[in-house]
Amino acid sequence: MDNYTPQWMDEDLAILRDAVRRFYENEFVPQSDAWIEQGKIDREAWLQAGEAGLLCAEIPTEYGGGGGDYRHDTVIQEEALRTGVVGFGNQVHSTIVAPYVLNYGTEEQKQRWLPKMASGEAVGAIAMTEPNTGSDLQNVRTTAIRDGDEYVINGAKTYITNGQHAGLVIVVAKTDPSEGAKGISLIVVEDTDKGFAKGRNLKKLGHHAADTSELFFDDCRVPVDRRLGVEEGKGFYQLMQQLPQERLSIAQGGVASMERAIDLTVDFVKERKAFGQTVFDFQNTKFKLAECKTEALIARTFVDQCVVWHMQGELDATRASMAKYWATEKQGEVIDQCLQLHGGAGYMDEYEISRLYADARVQRIYGGTNEIMKELISRSL
Ligand SMILES: Cc1cc2nc3c(=O)[nH]c(=O)nc-3n(C[C@H](O)[C@H](O)[C@H](O)COP(=O)(O)OP(=O)(O)OC[C@H]3O[C@@H](n4cnc5c(N)ncnc54)[C@H](O)[C@@H]3O)c2cc1C
Repeated sequence: MDNYTPQWMDEDLAILRDAVRRFYENEFVPQSDAWIEQGKIDREAWLQAGEAGLLCAEIPTEYGGGGGDYRHDTVIQEEALRTGVVGFGNQVHSTIVAPYVLNYGTEEQKQRWLPKMASGEAVGAIAMTEPNTGSDLQNVRTTAIRDGDEYVINGAKTYITNGQHAGLVIVVAKTDPSEGAKGISLIVVEDTDKGFAKGRNLKKLGHHAADTSELFFDDCRVPVDRRLGVEEGKGFYQLMQQLPQERLSIAQGGVASMERAIDLTVDFVKERKAFGQTVFDFQNTKFKLAECKTEALIARTFVDQCVVWHMQGELDATRASMAKYWATEKQGEVIDQCLQLHGGAGYMDEYEISRLYADARVQRIYGGTNEIMKELISRSL
């Protein structure tokens, strides 16, 4: 947006951003329609992304990653949104799943999964939500009961991003069903494990190229060493440690989408004519876009400050929740306004703004609903 540069951006990141943009524009954007049509991206696209160095940018090179930090992943994520890439679940893969393995995995687990994730050979997913439990994470019903050297997993998960392509899934399960949060552990299930089945690729309001699935575990036996973390019962704590990064990443996606919507709308209204002038020439249009641009920049500066705090190890749950809540609410409002300025075209699939509008809606729901964000923020009052 104009010449604003985030304070966390440096020359190397700017070079990365330009290279990633070219990659997306040449390789992924031309496939948008086909991917939307089939309800998921091509499996090969993950390998292509791995080859281009777009996966696991914050994972150390010794595990096949890019050797960068969160900022590298975020540059890669934001460019996808700015160039209009659809369905690429890299945010979940690189910014959420890979850091769990890196932060809580044993050396053996890191060697087993991270290089495959960095190359795109294995796609990562994380399965918290269940048909009967979403926000109330402590009450998941999926169980992983120990039997000798194995866990026997039973239960069902739903709305899982990357579910169809997933080669490994971090499953949130109760290793001690008699406990609440203290009974939860994170167990990695691989797609070849017996008793694990992928269900439907769910049809949804937006994000048509992103696969979102049901997953089923029916006496699925995995070795005990699939648990992340040396002790049982630490899963909830691990989730709480990692969720600020996930929420920050959603907030950044919200801002990038707003910026994309404003750019598209400015182009559109400067071309479109009504009453002998361009739509841009109406004072209402200019004022509405002025409001949108102001709100997007306010959101951007706060979210960028959160990135700085995150890099300093100071992004707490409260501020991460504020960023996720605020940026995604503004995303909804700004994109709605931008669609309005498109007139009927804004409602048509062939105009990107309609897709941005549909895609924006879920931002207030996943990663913890915005009501839950306010609940978390209110605890600091
Ligand atoms: C496209 C998409 C992708 C997703 N990807 C994943 C994924 O990869 N992995 C995963 O595990 N999950 C994923 N989810 C699930 C998502 O995280 C949940 O839908 C979300 O956390 C809300 O849970 P729920 O659907 O059970 O809603 P519920 O928890 O049933 O909430 C229903 C309503 O009640 C409100 N509510 C609930 N509790 C409170 C409270 N204490 N105070 C006030 N209001 C409350 C909620 O805010 C909401 O408005 C995805 C969802 C979608 C739509």
